[in-house]
Formats: sequence, structure tokens, C-alpha cells
Amino acid sequence: MIANRSPQPPAGVAPVVEIENLTRHFGVKTALDAVSLSVPRGTVFGLVGANGAGKTTLIKHILGLLRAESGSVRVFGLDPVADPVGVLSRVGYLSEENDLPGWMRVDELIRYSRSFYPAWDDAYAEELRQTFALDATAKIKNLSKGQKARAGLLIALAYRPELLVLDEPSSGLDPIVRRDILGAVLRTIAGEGRTVLFSSHLLEEVEQVADHVTMISQGKIVLSAPLDAIRESHRVNGRVPSLNEIFVMHVGSAAAPSAGA
Ligand code: ATP
Repeated sequence: MIANRSPQPPAGVAPVVEIENLTRHFGVKTALDAVSLSVPRGTVFGLVGANGAGKTTLIKHILGLLRAESGSVRVFGLDPVADPVGVLSRVGYLSEENDLPGWMRVDELIRYSRSFYPAWDDAYAEELRQTFALDATAKIKNLSKGQKARAGLLIALAYRPELLVLDEPSSGLDPIVRRDILGAVLRTIAGEGRTVLFSSHLLEEVEQVADHVTMISQGKIVLSAPLDAIRESHRVNGRVPSLNEIFVMHVGSAAAPSAGA
């Protein structure tokens, strides 16, 4: 079900996200420690790390929800804190909490959301609603966790944002939706030249879907490269280790995220 990986973008195409030397503290806790990374356009970019590694904090800086304490964050070349409209109008976001208004019905949520986005695609929204098997008349508050995750994904996808940011998109999705639907949707987006940044602690999933993998541990980037290059550079006696094994090589098993669901 997972299609071929996206070709790497041609040299000279500006990255969608560029972060330089970003550091963030919460009290005495260093949540991000001199993080630098660049998200190439048209890729599925997997950000992987254990619980508390700093994934959500990094994503919040990309969305302009947190201001850089030191260092810089640019999205489409813009500062997301100084120009939230310029950035967020081009970004689709599904948060870990996925807090949708419980009193709305699915069709009301779709109508409400479309009013914010001129590029909203009605036909695509309806196609996604059917693919995700969501009852248009169901109240959001009565949906299961997985159905809510699908509804949140529908809203994030239906205006075809240039950058789709998904924070732990799998946490509420059942394995079939994860493997078949999420994988296919992400590949389609990248195939259209749009960019996906998703965080996950599921290394197997990241390995199946991502073109580019960034590993984060205790607020530090330990590895960031195209997945194929990571695999090749870790080949031992002809055997390519799994992403989980590679993660353990870099940070040790105690700090490694889960390999399975
Ligand atoms: P998870 O997979 O569990 O969501 P994560 O990789 O997204 O984890 P973050 O949520 O970015 O990790 O948290 C990084 C560190 O910063 C953790 O130690 C967390 O406790 C701390 N932290 C994050 N937000 C805050 C906050 N608002 N106040 C205090 N500490 C925070």
C-alpha cells in the first residue's frame, strides 16, 4: 500500500522549514538544545524520539506557538511568530490532543472549517470523509478516539496545505488506518510536491513512510538525513539494520522509542 518514496527535491529549492541553533528551556529543563534542521520541500519528514524528547516543543516553534528563546525558525522563509497568518494559512496541523468542538456534527465541522480556507477542496473533503468512514451526521463528542483522529486529519488535509504538520498522528488511529490510509495519504501529498512533517515514537512506522528521518533525544538532534542514506551508512557486513537498531546505536536502548505499536 505504501508507494515509492518521493524523489529528492532538486538542488537549489529552498527548504520549507529552516531551524538554526534553537534552544528552549522550561525552568531548569532543556527541552531543545541547539537544534538545527532543514525540511526539504516535497518530502515526508519523520521526526522520531522517545516520550519527552522534544518533538512537540519543536513543532510548536514551527507553528509560532512558542517564540525562539535563542536561535531562529523560518517557515517558507518567514518568522512564524512575527507573521502567523503568512505561515499558518499555508500549514495544516493535527495536534496530539486533536481538540475538535464536541458539540458539532461531522458535516458542521467540515462547513465551519472550510470558511477559514479559500483553497478548501469540497470534493476532496467528501472523498476523505468516505475513505475515513465518518458519518456526516455523527456528533464529534460521540466519535471514538480513532474517529476523532480521522476527522482531525480530514480537516488538516482538505485545504491541501503546502506543509502538513502531524504531531503523533498515529496515537489515535487503529493499525489498518495507520498502515493503509495514512501511508497512502502522506505519499500522495509528497507526490504532489507538498511537504509533510510528522512526529512519531513508532520507528517501524517512520521507516515505512518517511523519506527523511530526524532522530531527537533529550532535546538534541542525534541524526538527520534521508532514510536511504541512513540505512546505507549503517550497513554492517552487508546487512542493513532496522531504524530501531540504528536509533539504539546512537542513543542507547533506554532512550529509544517503541519499535512497535
Ligand atoms: P511526547 O512524545 O511524550 O509527546 P515530546 O517528544 O513531544 O514527548 P515535549 O512535549 O516536546 O516532548 O517535551 C520535551 C520536554 O519539555 C519534556 O521533558 C517535557 O516535560 C518538557 N515540557 C514541554 N512543555 C513544557 C511546559 N509547557 N512546561 C514545562 N515543561 C515542559
